[in-house]
Amino acid sequence: MALPTRQTDIGPPKYDQFLPPVIKKNYGKWKYHEVLSGGTMVHVAESGDKLFTVRVASPRILSTETIREICDMSEKYCDGYLRFTTRNNVEFLVSDQSKLDPLVAELKAKKYSIGGIGPRISNVVHTQGWVHCHSACTDASGLVKAIMDDLYEYFTTKELPNKVRLAVACCVNMCGAVHCSDIAVVAVHRKVPTINHEMVSKSCEIPTTVASCPTSAIRPNPKDKSVIINEEKCMYCGNCFTVCPPIDIHKPEDDGVAIVVGGKIGSLRTDPKFSKLAIPFFYNEPPRWPKVVAAIRNILVTYEKHARKHERVGEWIERIGWEGFFNLTGIEFTFQHIDDFTFARDTFRTSAAFKYSK
Ligand code: SF4
Ligand code: SF4
Repeated sequence: MALPTRQTDIGPPKYDQFLPPVIKKNYGKWKYHEVLSGGTMVHVAESGDKLFTVRVASPRILSTETIREICDMSEKYCDGYLRFTTRNNVEFLVSDQSKLDPLVAELKAKKYSIGGIGPRISNVVHTQGWVHCHSACTDASGLVKAIMDDLYEYFTTKELPNKVRLAVACCVNMCGAVHCSDIAVVAVHRKVPTINHEMVSKSCEIPTTVASCPTSAIRPNPKDKSVIINEEKCMYCGNCFTVCPPIDIHKPEDDGVAIVVGGKIGSLRTDPKFSKLAIPFFYNEPPRWPKVVAAIRNILVTYEKHARKHERVGEWIERIGWEGFFNLTGIEFTFQHIDDFTFARDTFRTSAAFKYSK
């Protein structure tokens, strides 16, 4: 006997029920794609069918009103089909070419920013920041706004040697794609958490709190029915705070951000790469973070000037060498670039080959 079909909310629904008909019809039979402008492209199928994409920026945290407006335009021009990319770009998928120009005109009239396709920056993927997350050591939305205000022309019209993916994560848990982005900002705590022993004894499970620490810096403190942190081992990740809030990692006057570079997800030409440290620390300077914004622009324009066509940031750095990267960008080389966390596993210390001389 066949089992009845059940509807559950476990797991995502199967993706193909959301595909536009033109994609379903030509699935696996696309011939080529072409970038038409900074924010438009076309995919052409073997059958001759075309699918136009119009990409616009989003601030990621959207009002219901804006989402309704986006959906209304999608109904009007795209038969209701649109998608959000992993970097929170909004992409309108137009299968009727006659609707492309009117859509672009309406988006412009409504002051949407069209861009992010081809060899340029796209929307910045970022995390919650002070707005929302308990672990945050910077503000993601404010910082991204300041960065994108400065680099706006690289989203809309100006070209770079290849696409450049930007990211911001507001703590080292990195809900954003900082570890695999071309240029990224990761916020860091820099002080050992303080412990409110009385509250720990009342509100935390000691075994789970001890187990939450990736460097085994926490051990039980039976005398106070609490825990002790070995300061030498702590790398300020904030995991313990998530499990046990009376262990407080926040020190606003000491928190700030680091900049990492050279990561990528794609395997085109070279393997995917992890980002590596470029600048170890800036203090938070809300609301506009001028030093962070200037540092990112400096890395971007140096890459723009010196990279070969099609080279991603990481590929360019590997070709000229990290020494060359520090020399060209004028970024100071410091002790933080040499070692990793003191108590990281031996495997983190994988190379003694880096030799820096000015
Ligand atoms: Fe929270 Fe850290 Fe994720 Fe930011 S990166 S949203 S602070 S866990
Ligand atoms: Fe361990 Fe991270 Fe807490 Fe430090 S901040 S004690 S490393 S869990």
